[in-house]
Amino acid sequence: MHRPATTLLALVAAIRLAPAADLKDIAPDFELPFRQVHLDFHTSEAIPDVGKAFDPDEFASTLHDAHVNSVTVFGRCHHGWIYYDTKLFPERRHPNLKRPNLLKEQIEACHKRGIRAPVYITVQWDQFTANAHPEWIMKNQKGGFVGDTPGPVDGGFYRRLCLNSPYVDFLKRHLAELFERVPVDGLFLDIVDDQPCHCDFCKKGMAAEGIDTAKPDDVARYARQVLDRFRIELTHHIRSLDAKCTIFYNAGHIGPKSRPTIDCYTHLEMESLPSGGWGYVHFPLSVRYVRTLGKDSLGMTGKFHTSWGDFHSYKNPAALQFECFQMLALGAKCSIGDQLHPSGRLDAATYRLIGSVYAEVEKKEPWCRGARALTDIAVLSPEEFIRERIPEPSAGVVRMLQEGRQQFDILDTKGDFSPYKVLILPDAIAVDEALAKKIADYIEKGGSLIASYESGLEPGKAHFALPQLGVTKVDDAPTDGSGQPARGRSYPRNNYADYIKPAGKIGKGLEPTEHVMYLRGLRVAADDGALTLAPAIRSYFDRTPEHFCSHKQTPSSGEVEQPAIVRKGRCIYFAHPIFTQYYRSAPRWCRVLFLNALDALLPEPLLRVEAPTTAIASLNEQPGEKRWILHLLHYIPERRGKEFDIIEDVIPLADVRTSIRVPSKPAKLTAVPQGEDLPFSYKGGRASFTLPKLVGHQMVEIKF
Ligand SMILES: [Zn+2]
Repeated sequence: MHRPATTLLALVAAIRLAPAADLKDIAPDFELPFRQVHLDFHTSEAIPDVGKAFDPDEFASTLHDAHVNSVTVFGRCHHGWIYYDTKLFPERRHPNLKRPNLLKEQIEACHKRGIRAPVYITVQWDQFTANAHPEWIMKNQKGGFVGDTPGPVDGGFYRRLCLNSPYVDFLKRHLAELFERVPVDGLFLDIVDDQPCHCDFCKKGMAAEGIDTAKPDDVARYARQVLDRFRIELTHHIRSLDAKCTIFYNAGHIGPKSRPTIDCYTHLEMESLPSGGWGYVHFPLSVRYVRTLGKDSLGMTGKFHTSWGDFHSYKNPAALQFECFQMLALGAKCSIGDQLHPSGRLDAATYRLIGSVYAEVEKKEPWCRGARALTDIAVLSPEEFIRERIPEPSAGVVRMLQEGRQQFDILDTKGDFSPYKVLILPDAIAVDEALAKKIADYIEKGGSLIASYESGLEPGKAHFALPQLGVTKVDDAPTDGSGQPARGRSYPRNNYADYIKPAGKIGKGLEPTEHVMYLRGLRVAADDGALTLAPAIRSYFDRTPEHFCSHKQTPSSGEVEQPAIVRKGRCIYFAHPIFTQYYRSAPRWCRVLFLNALDALLPEPLLRVEAPTTAIASLNEQPGEKRWILHLLHYIPERRGKEFDIIEDVIPLADVRTSIRVPSKPAKLTAVPQGEDLPFSYKGGRASFTLPKLVGHQMVEIKF
């Protein structure tokens, strides 16, 4: 049963027409619950008595007592087993399942308590299917299976199924039966991501399109088309079965590449376990993009010490508080990942931990419902140009802006720049003709711009596409004598460093002397009418085997090499990749220079907070309530083990002084949910107050 190859044109037409016409308004007519649990249940067939200790009342009351109001429960897991009473696929029902209709019993017990219960269905990881149909597994160019575990001692169900294969027909029948057999509030469809595939189905499909399988970019583009078509087809299929259920496709990250089929999702869930490989910078990065897409969203962390499947481990309570409260502060609902024990009984200690945090979330919710972020700044996402989950410049710019307590969103090139006062192009934003025009319009209408390094160059990188930046690219000649271009290489020993010498306002807070820039900048000259804010100073020579000095970079020669920071009108350009550099080693001077540049373009930011750089601040509005909500957070991730950062303690801050740019004099400021009024002053369009004590997380209501 081979799916006939669709022509590329038909495919593109299908992608353009189908979702736009029919799926635009599939968002649910309710706001998502704030206190969710994602209850994994990937359960080996080698474990006996599955579900034997399940008690419906105890299950639902444990969740209820932990203040949980939505739980995602399991229809089919990565082992490939089904947890309800399937008639169509009895061979796939878990062989040791002692409660043949476990899923239905879980859902019904939750519904009795008013708890929502969407259903989890695995998509591309399914051990049963991979064993039964190896021809449906994705293949790499050498013909090996995609997702094979690295060695014979490692188990795992990571062979990835191809969504260009007849597997999709199974999936559709499986979902159709699911809707017949259990009440479905929503679907969490897991592991749905595009990867290049050379299986027989894709090879035939690509041959029909005339795609050269030796060209990785073309194969990757075909893979994205396959995925987009899959989401569109499956969403239509699900809507033919049920008009209302929520639908989400999980790929572990939501970024610009999700946009073409965003109408296939009813809402967005941001999987981001800080100790599970995502780190603490991923969630703020992701949510600041996701919240511009116009969909309700939730953040998803885990109760585990590390990541999914880490049984009998417990996240430190302070870390779970921070992760959930940060979700609220940045406009998302909360979801905490857990895994149900094969016995079917929830772990009491886990729900004491989750309950301790969700009790607080419940009290905070009234100030978070329908909240929208207030922002000054848009960052154009490097993800469209560097296809990674966390491109280095993205992580660097998020950290710097967050440490500066600036209010910002992350956009892709299709985003609307007009609401923002400043647009930032970090390190790697290639500017084609259309984008150049869009940015020129934005600047003409009063917007300000900061760009760094290769941002602003046309896609071939020969010239700047933005004359507004006031710089011209000079040359790209190698300077280290190796015959290789020095730029864009890795710099393990800082061989190509130069120095930046700040002075005046751009150097406020820094000594007026050379500061090393470990990653050398782009070679540029300032145009007529542009002002050099700081020069780059060359070293005596680049470090090579022929000439070197001491252990690291050669010191400053005192000789000006080129402009390092240039201003023209409302545009400021940094020649160095300051955001990548900050992500790699966090030199304070990179952040100070950047925030000083921002201060020149945005002299009255929404927030000024006098607190250590570890404090996070965000500002939301609740238009219906005629109030703004300020969130202040203070938790410090620390690298105690070598693998990831943890948070253990809450370190209170005293007397946090904050000033907020407000549209009019507020009626009052109140610390909430405690309800303590805060005295404030109002001057020059800013309301200023001092929070006597910040313990972890504090919201302040600004009532107009
Ligand atoms: Zn394939």
